[in-house]
Amino acid sequence: MHAYRCFLPARMMITLLILGVVLLCLGPSGIGPLRFCPAMGQGEAMAADESDLYRIRRAAMVEEQIRGRGIRSAAVLDAMTRVPRHLFVPETVIKYAYDDTPLPIGYGQTISQPYIVGFMTEILNLPPHARVLEVGTGSGYQAAVLAELGVEVYTVEIIAELAHSAAGRLRARYPQKVHARHADGFFGWPEQAPFDAIMVTAAAEFIPPPLLEQLKEGGRMVIPVGTPFLLQTLMLVEKPNGEITTRSLLPVSFVPLRRAP
Ligand code: SAH
Repeated sequence: MHAYRCFLPARMMITLLILGVVLLCLGPSGIGPLRFCPAMGQGEAMAADESDLYRIRRAAMVEEQIRGRGIRSAAVLDAMTRVPRHLFVPETVIKYAYDDTPLPIGYGQTISQPYIVGFMTEILNLPPHARVLEVGTGSGYQAAVLAELGVEVYTVEIIAELAHSAAGRLRARYPQKVHARHADGFFGWPEQAPFDAIMVTAAAEFIPPPLLEQLKEGGRMVIPVGTPFLLQTLMLVEKPNGEITTRSLLPVSFVPLRRAP
């Protein structure tokens, strides 16, 4: 009798437990799996939720930080809405990927603040199918935004590790549109010149003469110029009728344009 009394509650508990698990798997409405039901592809459901979350954050970033601050080009806004910025930053800072800030990408370098990416992209006023040189591939994010505009991107990075990881990321997404190279961007990419536009994403003390040479007649270059680690000025350089004109746009702070030893 004693044994029986012990046995009955144990059986009841097991039955209740099984019933509970079945109900949890079915979900509150009795149809459709809940995410934590192991037989229902937990990984897939979680991944879908995660990418939705990033999509929402990205839309908010574009709305508040980019459109909200005056970037009007629909092409630029669309491009930034499409590029998954969180896949271009290290795991350690992924939760800040859509924040209003630059982020470290290793080797003392940074991915620019989203607004700066939008601003620099818009100011180039790129026609579709333009050929664009970027100096300072970094994470590859800016190159991806350019590729989303439909232009042909040539991007150069001086730090081998960054050049290789960004090249891999960009090859996977834009095998036809982006050409990446490990080299000193001070010298541009002479074999592919001239370019309709040049974007330099590291601060130079002066405009590198090879870049001026590689800019097409009527082309545009955007480049931060000034003292390393201090305040610099984002400059728009144009080349109408063989002349060089420059215009100061914004005070900015970029990592320095290095020179190969
Ligand atoms: N555009 C990048 C961020 C650039 S940070 C992005 O979207 O993530 C500036 C980058 O310029 C760094 O990765 C730095 O290593 C690179 N750089 C600095 N000097 C360079 C040079 N002379 N040639 C090419 N790249 C350079």
